[in-house]
Amino acid sequence: MLQVQNVEKYYGSKNNVTKALDRISFEVRRGEFIAIMGASGSGKTTLLNCISTIDTVSAGNILLDGENVTEISGSELAKFRRERLGFIFQDFNLLDTLTLEENIGIALTINHADPKSVQGNVREVAHQLGIVDALEKFPYQVSGGQKQRAACARAMVAGQSLILADEPTGALDSKSSKSLLEIMTGMNQNSGATILMVTHDAYSASYASRILFLKDGRLFNELIRGERSRQV
Ligand code: ADP
Ligand code: ADP
Repeated sequence: MLQVQNVEKYYGSKNNVTKALDRISFEVRRGEFIAIMGASGSGKTTLLNCISTIDTVSAGNILLDGENVTEISGSELAKFRRERLGFIFQDFNLLDTLTLEENIGIALTINHADPKSVQGNVREVAHQLGIVDALEKFPYQVSGGQKQRAACARAMVAGQSLILADEPTGALDSKSSKSLLEIMTGMNQNSGATILMVTHDAYSASYASRILFLKDGRLFNELIRGERSRQV
Protein backbone atom coordinates (compact mmCIF):
# COMPACT_ATOMS: atom_id res chain seq x y z
CA MET A 1 0.00 0.00 0.00
CA LEU A 2 2.89 2.37 0.84
CA GLN A 3 6.19 1.84 -0.93
CA VAL A 4 9.21 3.93 -0.02
CA GLN A 5 11.93 3.34 -2.60
CA ASN A 6 15.52 4.53 -2.24
CA VAL A 7 14.54 7.83 -0.72
CA GLU A 8 17.30 10.35 -0.12
CA LYS A 9 16.98 13.78 1.40
CA TYR A 10 19.65 16.43 1.60
CA TYR A 11 19.35 19.77 3.33
CA GLY A 12 21.55 22.79 2.77
CA SER A 13 23.65 23.84 -0.17
CA LYS A 14 27.03 23.07 -1.65
CA ASN A 15 29.47 23.55 1.20
CA ASN A 16 27.13 22.62 3.99
CA VAL A 17 25.05 19.58 3.14
CA THR A 18 23.21 17.45 5.69
CA LYS A 19 22.17 14.03 4.51
CA ALA A 20 18.94 13.52 6.45
CA LEU A 21 17.78 10.35 4.65
CA ASP A 22 20.10 7.85 3.00
CA ARG A 23 18.56 5.35 0.54
CA ILE A 24 15.52 4.46 2.64
CA SER A 25 13.39 1.61 1.33
CA PHE A 26 10.50 -0.19 3.00
CA GLU A 27 6.90 -1.17 2.41
CA VAL A 28 3.80 -0.90 4.52
CA ARG A 29 0.94 -3.30 3.94
CA ARG A 30 -2.67 -2.36 4.48
CA GLY A 31 -3.71 -2.81 8.10
CA GLU A 32 -0.22 -2.57 9.61
CA PHE A 33 0.66 -0.43 12.63
CA ILE A 34 4.26 0.64 12.08
CA ALA A 35 6.51 2.57 14.41
CA ILE A 36 9.61 4.36 13.19
CA MET A 37 12.09 4.73 16.00
CA GLY A 38 15.38 6.51 16.24
CA ALA A 39 17.31 9.05 18.25
CA SER A 40 16.82 12.77 17.81
CA GLY A 41 18.27 13.81 14.44
CA SER A 42 18.05 10.32 12.91
CA GLY A 43 15.64 11.52 10.21
CA LYS A 44 12.24 10.41 11.52
CA THR A 45 10.39 13.65 10.98
CA THR A 46 12.03 14.21 7.61
CA LEU A 47 10.86 10.77 6.50
CA LEU A 48 7.33 11.39 7.69
CA ASN A 49 7.26 14.82 6.04
CA CYS A 50 8.41 13.32 2.74
CA ILE A 51 5.66 10.69 2.91
CA SER A 52 3.06 13.32 3.77
CA THR A 53 4.29 15.57 0.90
CA ILE A 54 5.04 18.39 3.34
CA ASP A 55 8.69 18.06 2.32
CA THR A 56 10.14 16.98 -1.04
CA VAL A 57 12.57 14.11 -1.55
CA SER A 58 16.01 14.70 -3.12
CA ALA A 59 15.90 11.28 -4.80
CA GLY A 60 13.75 8.15 -4.81
CA ASN A 61 10.05 7.47 -4.98
CA ILE A 62 7.15 7.15 -2.56
CA LEU A 63 4.06 5.32 -3.78
CA LEU A 64 0.74 5.39 -1.99
CA ASP A 65 -1.72 2.91 -3.49
CA GLY A 66 0.49 2.91 -6.57
CA GLU A 67 0.46 6.70 -6.99
CA ASN A 68 3.83 8.42 -6.88
CA VAL A 69 3.37 11.15 -4.28
CA THR A 70 6.65 12.83 -5.26
CA GLU A 71 5.04 13.74 -8.60
CA ILE A 72 1.85 15.36 -7.31
CA SER A 73 1.68 18.98 -8.44
CA GLY A 74 1.63 21.80 -5.92
CA SER A 75 -1.98 22.71 -6.56
CA GLU A 76 -3.13 19.15 -5.90
CA LEU A 77 -1.17 18.58 -2.70
CA ALA A 78 -3.63 19.96 -0.16
CA LYS A 79 -6.47 17.94 -1.65
CA PHE A 80 -4.31 14.83 -1.74
CA ARG A 81 -3.47 15.18 1.95
CA ARG A 82 -7.08 15.76 2.97
CA GLU A 83 -8.42 12.82 1.03
CA ARG A 84 -5.71 10.22 1.42
CA LEU A 85 -3.85 10.95 4.64
CA GLY A 86 -4.94 11.24 8.24
CA PHE A 87 -2.82 13.12 10.74
CA ILE A 88 -2.69 12.73 14.50
CA PHE A 89 -0.95 15.80 15.87
CA GLN A 90 0.90 16.07 19.13
CA ASP A 91 -1.49 18.66 20.57
CA PHE A 92 -4.49 17.25 18.63
CA ASN A 93 -5.17 20.60 16.87
CA LEU A 94 -8.91 20.57 17.41
CA LEU A 95 -10.50 23.90 16.51
CA ASP A 96 -12.03 25.49 19.62
CA THR A 97 -14.87 27.19 17.75
CA LEU A 98 -16.16 23.99 16.14
CA THR A 99 -18.04 21.11 17.75
CA LEU A 100 -16.42 17.69 17.77
CA GLU A 101 -18.74 16.73 14.91
CA GLU A 102 -17.54 19.69 12.83
CA ASN A 103 -13.91 19.07 13.78
CA ILE A 104 -14.07 15.42 12.77
CA GLY A 105 -15.75 16.16 9.44
CA ILE A 106 -13.70 19.20 8.50
CA ALA A 107 -11.70 17.65 5.65
CA LEU A 108 -14.86 16.26 4.08
CA THR A 109 -16.60 19.61 4.43
CA ILE A 110 -13.68 21.46 2.83
CA ASN A 111 -13.88 18.99 -0.05
CA HIS A 112 -17.56 19.93 -0.51
CA ALA A 113 -18.89 16.52 0.42
CA ASP A 114 -22.66 16.34 0.73
CA PRO A 115 -23.59 17.35 4.32
CA LYS A 116 -25.69 14.22 4.82
CA SER A 117 -22.80 11.95 3.84
CA VAL A 118 -20.41 13.95 6.06
CA GLN A 119 -22.78 13.42 8.95
CA GLY A 120 -23.06 9.71 8.16
CA ASN A 121 -19.30 9.25 8.02
CA VAL A 122 -18.73 11.25 11.20
CA ARG A 123 -21.38 9.28 13.10
CA GLU A 124 -19.88 6.00 11.97
CA VAL A 125 -16.34 6.75 13.17
CA ALA A 126 -17.67 8.42 16.31
CA HIS A 127 -19.52 5.21 17.03
CA GLN A 128 -16.39 3.11 16.44
CA LEU A 129 -14.44 5.33 18.83
CA GLY A 130 -17.19 5.69 21.43
CA ILE A 131 -17.79 9.46 21.28
CA VAL A 132 -21.24 9.73 19.71
CA ASP A 133 -22.57 11.40 22.85
CA ALA A 134 -19.93 14.15 22.69
CA LEU A 135 -20.41 15.15 19.05
CA GLU A 136 -22.44 18.28 19.79
CA LYS A 137 -19.93 19.56 22.31
CA PHE A 138 -17.00 21.91 21.85
CA PRO A 139 -13.46 20.78 22.68
CA TYR A 140 -13.40 22.75 25.95
CA GLN A 141 -16.49 20.89 27.12
CA VAL A 142 -15.10 17.37 26.81
CA SER A 143 -12.50 15.28 28.62
CA GLY A 144 -8.93 14.76 27.45
CA GLY A 145 -9.80 11.23 26.45
CA GLN A 146 -12.71 12.44 24.30
CA LYS A 147 -10.45 15.00 22.63
CA GLN A 148 -8.00 12.21 21.80
CA ARG A 149 -10.79 10.15 20.28
CA ALA A 150 -12.06 13.09 18.23
CA ALA A 151 -8.58 13.74 16.84
CA CYS A 152 -8.26 10.07 15.94
CA ALA A 153 -11.74 10.04 14.36
CA ARG A 154 -10.79 13.02 12.20
CA ALA A 155 -7.75 11.08 10.93
CA MET A 156 -9.88 8.23 9.61
CA VAL A 157 -13.27 9.75 8.79
CA ALA A 158 -12.68 9.99 5.04
CA GLY A 159 -11.40 6.44 4.80
CA GLN A 160 -7.88 7.83 4.45
CA SER A 161 -5.39 5.25 3.19
CA LEU A 162 -2.74 6.03 5.75
CA ILE A 163 -2.68 7.66 9.18
CA LEU A 164 0.51 9.50 10.10
CA ALA A 165 1.44 10.41 13.65
CA ASP A 166 4.60 12.28 14.62
CA GLU A 167 5.43 11.74 18.30
CA PRO A 168 1.72 11.67 19.17
CA THR A 169 2.44 10.99 22.85
CA GLY A 170 5.28 13.51 23.02
CA ALA A 171 3.34 16.03 25.09
CA LEU A 172 1.32 13.59 27.21
CA ASP A 173 1.81 12.16 30.69
CA SER A 174 2.07 8.39 30.92
CA LYS A 175 -1.60 7.82 31.66
CA SER A 176 -2.72 9.92 28.69
CA SER A 177 -0.08 8.29 26.48
CA LYS A 178 -1.39 4.87 27.34
CA SER A 179 -4.98 5.87 26.56
CA LEU A 180 -4.01 7.37 23.19
CA LEU A 181 -1.98 4.29 22.24
CA GLU A 182 -4.91 2.08 23.17
CA ILE A 183 -7.23 4.15 20.97
CA MET A 184 -4.76 3.89 18.08
CA THR A 185 -4.49 0.13 18.61
CA GLY A 186 -8.28 -0.11 18.45
CA MET A 187 -8.37 1.93 15.21
CA ASN A 188 -5.82 -0.47 13.77
CA GLN A 189 -7.27 -3.74 15.00
CA ASN A 190 -10.99 -3.05 14.96
CA SER A 191 -11.31 -0.56 12.10
CA GLY A 192 -8.42 -1.73 9.93
CA ALA A 193 -6.63 1.64 9.92
CA THR A 194 -3.06 1.61 8.62
CA ILE A 195 -0.85 3.66 10.91
CA LEU A 196 2.69 4.98 10.60
CA MET A 197 3.89 6.49 13.88
CA VAL A 198 7.20 8.20 14.51
CA THR A 199 8.52 8.04 18.05
CA HIS A 200 11.71 8.03 20.05
CA ASP A 201 9.89 6.35 22.90
CA ALA A 202 10.15 2.56 23.23
CA TYR A 203 6.92 2.33 25.22
CA SER A 204 4.94 3.94 22.39
CA ALA A 205 6.69 1.78 19.79
CA SER A 206 5.78 -1.35 21.72
CA TYR A 207 2.16 -0.93 20.58
CA ALA A 208 3.14 -1.27 16.90
CA SER A 209 3.12 -4.55 14.98
CA ARG A 210 6.43 -3.67 13.34
CA ILE A 211 9.21 -1.27 14.33
CA LEU A 212 11.68 0.22 11.87
CA PHE A 213 14.85 1.71 13.35
CA LEU A 214 16.53 4.75 11.84
CA LYS A 215 20.07 5.84 12.60
CA ASP A 216 21.86 8.73 10.89
CA GLY A 217 19.27 8.70 8.12
CA ARG A 218 19.57 4.98 7.41
CA LEU A 219 17.20 2.16 8.15
CA PHE A 220 19.31 -0.33 10.05
CA ASN A 221 17.01 -2.75 11.81
CA GLU A 222 13.49 -4.07 11.83
CA LEU A 223 11.55 -5.68 14.62
CA ILE A 224 8.36 -7.60 13.98
CA ARG A 225 6.32 -8.34 17.05
CA GLY A 226 6.86 -11.96 18.03
CA GLU A 227 9.94 -12.41 15.83
CA ARG A 228 13.67 -11.84 16.25
CA SER A 229 14.99 -8.51 15.05
CA ARG A 230 16.95 -8.51 11.84
CA GLN A 231 19.39 -6.21 10.14
CA VAL A 232 18.04 -4.54 6.99
P1 ADP B 1 14.37 13.36 13.93
O1 ADP B 1 12.94 13.61 13.57
O2 ADP B 1 14.72 11.91 13.97
O3 ADP B 1 14.80 14.08 15.15
P2 ADP B 1 14.94 15.06 11.67
O4 ADP B 1 14.25 14.42 10.51
O5 ADP B 1 14.29 16.21 12.32
O6 ADP B 1 15.27 13.93 12.74
O7 ADP B 1 16.39 15.52 11.24
C1 ADP B 1 17.30 14.70 10.48
C2 ADP B 1 18.53 15.51 10.12
O8 ADP B 1 18.20 16.52 9.17
C3 ADP B 1 19.17 16.24 11.31
O9 ADP B 1 20.54 16.25 11.12
C4 ADP B 1 18.60 17.62 11.19
O10 ADP B 1 19.47 18.56 11.78
C5 ADP B 1 18.48 17.81 9.69
N1 ADP B 1 17.38 18.71 9.32
C6 ADP B 1 16.06 18.49 9.53
N2 ADP B 1 15.32 19.49 9.02
C7 ADP B 1 16.19 20.37 8.46
C8 ADP B 1 16.06 21.60 7.77
N3 ADP B 1 14.87 22.13 7.51
N4 ADP B 1 17.18 22.21 7.35
C9 ADP B 1 18.39 21.66 7.57
N5 ADP B 1 18.60 20.51 8.21
C10 ADP B 1 17.51 19.86 8.65
P1 ADP C 1 -12.47 11.27 31.95
O1 ADP C 1 -13.23 12.47 32.41
O2 ADP C 1 -13.17 10.46 30.89
O3 ADP C 1 -11.84 10.46 33.05
P2 ADP C 1 -9.93 12.50 31.58
O4 ADP C 1 -9.76 13.79 30.89
O5 ADP C 1 -9.74 12.49 33.04
O6 ADP C 1 -11.31 11.91 31.11
O7 ADP C 1 -8.93 11.43 30.96
C1 ADP C 1 -9.25 10.49 29.97
C2 ADP C 1 -7.96 10.04 29.38
O8 ADP C 1 -7.41 11.10 28.61
C3 ADP C 1 -6.96 9.70 30.45
O9 ADP C 1 -6.10 8.65 30.06
C4 ADP C 1 -6.21 11.00 30.59
O10 ADP C 1 -4.91 10.79 31.09
C5 ADP C 1 -6.20 11.50 29.17
N1 ADP C 1 -6.08 12.97 29.12
C6 ADP C 1 -6.44 13.86 30.07
N2 ADP C 1 -6.17 15.10 29.69
C7 ADP C 1 -5.65 15.01 28.46
C8 ADP C 1 -5.17 15.95 27.52
N3 ADP C 1 -5.18 17.26 27.73
N4 ADP C 1 -4.72 15.51 26.35
C9 ADP C 1 -4.71 14.21 26.10
N5 ADP C 1 -5.12 13.28 26.93
C10 ADP C 1 -5.59 13.66 28.10
